[in-house]
Amino acid sequence: MDVPQFMSLTFDDNVNEVIFPVIQNLTSGLAFNPNGCPLSATFYVSTLYTDYQMIQGLFNRGHEIAVHTMNHVSQPSQGEILGAYRALNAFAGIPKSKLKGFRTPFLAFSYQTYQHLSDSNLFLYDSSMSVNYKSAPIWPYTLDHGPATECTTGSCPANFSMKGLWSVPMYTLDNTDGTLNAAMDPNAKRGNSDLKENLLSTLKFNFLARYNSTRVPMGLYLHAAASLTVKDRTDAYVEFINWTLSFPDVYWVNNQQLISWIQNPTNIKDSLTNPALDCIMPPVSENNVEICDGVDNNNDGKIDEGLASACYYPSVQLSLNVNFEIILNFRHALAVRHCIPTFPIQFHSHLTMRRNSFRTKDVQIAVFGILQKELVLL
Ligand SMILES: [Zn+2]
Repeated sequence: MDVPQFMSLTFDDNVNEVIFPVIQNLTSGLAFNPNGCPLSATFYVSTLYTDYQMIQGLFNRGHEIAVHTMNHVSQPSQGEILGAYRALNAFAGIPKSKLKGFRTPFLAFSYQTYQHLSDSNLFLYDSSMSVNYKSAPIWPYTLDHGPATECTTGSCPANFSMKGLWSVPMYTLDNTDGTLNAAMDPNAKRGNSDLKENLLSTLKFNFLARYNSTRVPMGLYLHAAASLTVKDRTDAYVEFINWTLSFPDVYWVNNQQLISWIQNPTNIKDSLTNPALDCIMPPVSENNVEICDGVDNNNDGKIDEGLASACYYPSVQLSLNVNFEIILNFRHALAVRHCIPTFPIQFHSHLTMRRNSFRTKDVQIAVFGILQKELVLL
């Protein structure tokens, strides 16, 4: 079939210092797509416990950032969805034009979830519906005529139409004997002895089933915290991704890129220059100036020096009785937003991450209160 094989790598939930190293392990040292661009993953980010400087770092590296509610709740309210959206824009500086995707926590969506997405007019797609690849090998599609398959998670009444909103299915994977494995975190419950070899052969089996027939996209939908803390797992994923990239027509793309390609599909040869698959590079600062992004932009060994007060977001009244360090960190997170319009984001291949995520739930919730209050003003 003369179309590329598309692959997606997605991560769900909060991003902080606990899981950031495992994400780095998995996403560094990977081969490139046939057009020379690096893999772009999609991160569905929930607000609670997230370190927004790390989100900005992931965005700077060309990954897609998407919404996964504020408090990781099933059947989320509109506030849960829009609050998380605004936080990504306000605290990580992700442009609204780049925030287009949503995934429901626990994949527990309802008709109202889609209604919220549609009403907001902010989202291009949802990726919460798991689809059995074998019985329904379908490509991402718009919900103009409702879901194309039965819903195996969430509640999914027939006959609903969300015009223009795309559904990017979460395709299930099978075991090598043809029985169902999972859509998310494959082989999650397996023991350690043969974990790597078993996971690798499962992934290769599923890849070849698509590559040699339908070319329907395949995904690795992972929870970094659950799926990557065992080294054998990470090793298996890295080896698998690099193995697939030895094929001349395999692209690992984020979900926005996948939709863009479907809107302007090209054959294998022309896909090498299809703009939908172009490398994602944020604008680079001309003068190597330090910006508020938790990165040592000017390579002087200091992170964001001289910017903590200059970038302070003045409308926030910080009167919490909490550790001063935490306040500083929160102020810093706010500062990120303030800096973005003035300074272009600088791309760095060697990000130095600040270890400053909020450490306890109480503090996070206290800060969260301010955050939610502020967000309604944005
Ligand atoms: Zn989740």
